[in-house]
Amino acid sequence: MKGKYAVVTGGSRGIGRAVCLELARGGANVALCYAGNEAAAQEAAAACAALGVKALIFRCDVSDAGQVSRFMEYVLGEFGRIDILVNNAGITRDGLLMSMKETDFDAVLSANLKGTFLCMKAVSRQMLKQRYGRIVNLSSVVGLRGNAGQVNYAASKAGVIGLTKSAAKELAGRNITVNAVAPGFIETDMTAALPEKARESLLPSIPMGRMGAAEDAARAVAFLAGEGAGYITGQVLCVDGGMAM
Ligand code: NAP
Repeated sequence: MKGKYAVVTGGSRGIGRAVCLELARGGANVALCYAGNEAAAQEAAAACAALGVKALIFRCDVSDAGQVSRFMEYVLGEFGRIDILVNNAGITRDGLLMSMKETDFDAVLSANLKGTFLCMKAVSRQMLKQRYGRIVNLSSVVGLRGNAGQVNYAASKAGVIGLTKSAAKELAGRNITVNAVAPGFIETDMTAALPEKARESLLPSIPMGRMGAAEDAARAVAFLAGEGAGYITGQVLCVDGGMAM
């Protein structure tokens, strides 16, 4: 990891922030993007820089192709290469199928699935040139098992798995691995929005009996982004306390 150059989308908070710190702890320089929370992005970058690496921030909506290409151009201008891409930016807009607004379906697919596609596409030329790359996409156990009230989110996260496996097959010959991490229920702002009753009812479905920490997911991402995972591609690693087995 030392001296590598990493891009983490949605690195300002939650799992993305923990991934930035885990990569920085291993010696990687980190460029993170965020949707709107600049103070959180600055704080995350400062925490990475305090570990002795370069840390950049860039406001970029990953669902917008123009913004994604400007972000990657900026990173390449500053870093000169991109060794690691972590597609972590994601949102939820929950609701039952019958009453889900089309705009909520589109927003979730755009941020979670199209955003992952756009970022992978934007870095693929550089990684092919380098003949080196590690791409890790955040899916979810919900993409494997489905979840009532989340048809949009489940579709986006199942789509991320298809995207991951297809890109893994396309890029494997150039020493570029593409894998997915599928977290279960992790304590972040995203899950803090769940009502206490819903959180309590989820616990019995987790064999380990507790929600995960952002760092639990981040360590799995860092493993797949590291040298040690060089012969692993097209895989989905669940980090879920046993929930999806
Ligand atoms: P979170 O705490 O809500 O943080 C989301 C991050 O994504 C923030 O940094 C946010 O930026 C950024 N973001 C959102 N939309 C974006 C966009 N369109 N463009 C760029 N950045 C955007 O979420 P989290 O819980 O850490 O989740 C991280 C990833 O793990 C997501 O893909 C999520 O689906 C997945 N996941 C989470 C869980 C869980 O239990 N938490 C479980 C399974 C999978 P701002 O700070 O600027 O808003």
